[in-house]
Amino acid sequence: KERRLSLFREANKLARDYFRQTLKTHGAAANARKYLARREVTPELQEEFQLGFALSEWNSLLGFLERKGLTPEQAVEAGLAVKNEAGRYYDRFRNRLIFPIWDATGQVAGFGGRVLDDSLPKYLNTPETLFFSKGRLLYGLHLARTAIREKGCVVVMEGYMDVVTAHQHGIKNAVASLGTALTHEHGRLLTHYSRDVVIAYDADAAGEAATARSLDLLEELGCQVRVLRLPDGKDPDEFLKKHSIQTWETLVNGAPLLFQYKLEQAAGARPLKTPADKLEVLRQVFPSLAGFSSEIEREEGLKQAARTLNLSWETVYGEFKRLKLISG
Ligand code: ATP
Ligand code: MN
Ligand code: MN
Ligand code: MN
Repeated sequence: KERRLSLFREANKLARDYFRQTLKTHGAAANARKYLARREVTPELQEEFQLGFALSEWNSLLGFLERKGLTPEQAVEAGLAVKNEAGRYYDRFRNRLIFPIWDATGQVAGFGGRVLDDSLPKYLNTPETLFFSKGRLLYGLHLARTAIREKGCVVVMEGYMDVVTAHQHGIKNAVASLGTALTHEHGRLLTHYSRDVVIAYDADAAGEAATARSLDLLEELGCQVRVLRLPDGKDPDEFLKKHSIQTWETLVNGAPLLFQYKLEQAAGARPLKTPADKLEVLRQVFPSLAGFSSEIEREEGLKQAARTLNLSWETVYGEFKRLKLISG
């Protein structure tokens, strides 16, 4: 097991260097370099994020790894190659821009590969194994660690490009959960660095769903969570390329705390005409209220709920006590 892990790491490091070199110097990587220029990823950023390119060939990486003394079987174990039914080996990543994914100490743990056009799948990752698991890795954490501690706050985004662009604009406390909602492991990892968390997922249905699934988990871990909402379907990458950093910071500072966010989501999801509508909203937000550690926060929350539902504060408080008694 130990030996397999060190082999996995060694193979991934070799591949990282190979992809990196290919992007920088290979003639067939010209399109990838143009693509990055078009997306405003400067050579400095490419260096910081160790970006690379996988050629449009069936076994260029395999050939390189073999010259370094690795067998095709070992390349498969490292998630870098695939063996087909006929027993032939071929490179997993072909004609893709390569994003190395690191663990918290900066060791390469795997890769994400992006196509240069609109073909699908847009991203391809190292397969999930004992050694690589997206649910346990936060993209960019080793680059963000210091800034997270200094600012006392971490911004969680969805994707590679969001974090790269965030860094370019001086937002260095950003990490990405790589498309999945936060897992418990992600949350625990975050709390080692900061409990003040800003969720900045894409402003689309998938991003909203991922946000919803992440919130309770972070709350249970004792985090203070704010939810950033970007205008018109954008993700942080697109937003930061169109707006000033001041606009971003205004949004972050005005981002609602978890309770307010939930209240707005719950109230926005239904007409609020009947008592039953209003009661349902209360049912959805009361668990967060019950979790508050201070009575002041709880009172503020009850008042906010009352305002949103156009009820008196006494009524809301009455329902809160009643529902708490019922649920024990
Ligand atoms: P880009 O700006 O390059 O189009 P993105 O990060 O905005 O990329 P999204 O579609 O918003 O792309 O996805 C967010 C993240 O989810 C990606 O950065 C990637 O980590 C992950 N992801 C998306 N699609 C896939 C996929 N098909 N397989 C694995 N991971 C994926
Ligand atoms: Mn998305
Ligand atoms: Mn996105
Ligand atoms: Mn994007």
